Amino acid sequence: MRLTALPYTLHLRSAFNVATYSRTTTPIVVVRLEHEGVIGYGEASLPPYLGETQESVLAFLQALQIEKFDNPFELEEILLYVDHTAQGNTAAKAAIDIALHDMVGKIMNRPCHELWGISAAQTPLSTFTIGLGSLDDVRAKAQEAIHIPVLKVKLGSPEVIEHDKAIIQALRETTPASFTVDANQGWQTKEVALEMIEWLSKYNVLFVEQPLHKDALEDTAWIYERSPLPLYADESCKRLTDMRSLLDVFHGVNIKLMKSTGLREAYAMIHAARALGLEVLLGCMTETSCAISAASQLAPLARYADLDGALLISNDCFEGTIIRDGSIRVSKKPGIGATPTTEALSWLS
Ligand code: MG
Repeated sequence: MRLTALPYTLHLRSAFNVATYSRTTTPIVVVRLEHEGVIGYGEASLPPYLGETQESVLAFLQALQIEKFDNPFELEEILLYVDHTAQGNTAAKAAIDIALHDMVGKIMNRPCHELWGISAAQTPLSTFTIGLGSLDDVRAKAQEAIHIPVLKVKLGSPEVIEHDKAIIQALRETTPASFTVDANQGWQTKEVALEMIEWLSKYNVLFVEQPLHKDALEDTAWIYERSPLPLYADESCKRLTDMRSLLDVFHGVNIKLMKSTGLREAYAMIHAARALGLEVLLGCMTETSCAISAASQLAPLARYADLDGALLISNDCFEGTIIRDGSIRVSKKPGIGATPTTEALSWLS
């Protein structure tokens, strides 16, 4: 197998603000894996706060000797080798995992969900994200998304509770949508977080994601005991091995390919969640339709989905799974179901 990797910059339709940062672009690396004329595509999305860069991904990929494998069906062996090459680098590892699944599906001429025995007939609705901003900003964004039944609202603003409450009230006056709330570790104490969650429970909020710092599991467990709304772990849950510590701390987990090292571990995490009695939210970073189509192959197994990453960018270089007004139409094309746009094909080949 032969691996090539190309850095690319995604432009966001509008500045993305959450509790801890703001940005207008997301660097990615597109990966192209070739074996006997079949090409699999993968992607590493690299939001700066997660620590990986285009340089670190390229260095990681360069250190790999993927060419020593000549059977793409040996996913377990290949991906264990990739994982053991170095710690961290979860997005770089995800890029290889996605490309390998794409290749296997293309050789079998079946979409990944069929290879896993999953029907794509029923998928959860996908949320659409309203980032932190002024009240006029969030109202305008909610107006643009008026046909989307579930909105993900970013809270945890520095001004804390008063601004957070004003955002929810402004949105509640603008849209009939249900909300999910992501505090992105922004609430400073368990008491403040619980007070907010109790207040939110009166505003048609389905659940709250990551109320406190990722390591504040004892304080989160205190909220868990008292919360009227389900709590979902995002920053506290990256990989399979994190899940045991989340029992009786969170009600569910946000699984993302860029954290989990790709589809293979994400699939295992979904089944671990079921065994532990945790709900599953399938999430994403700002990504092209390459990684989004890959994640959508698992969407039928999730209770909730937050796969709006490709909708937030203006230069998507792939086509695949379509998400319109929150409905996920999982691509039936072989593999991850994504193909490069005509323009992208010229620089990918
Ligand atoms: Mg989150």
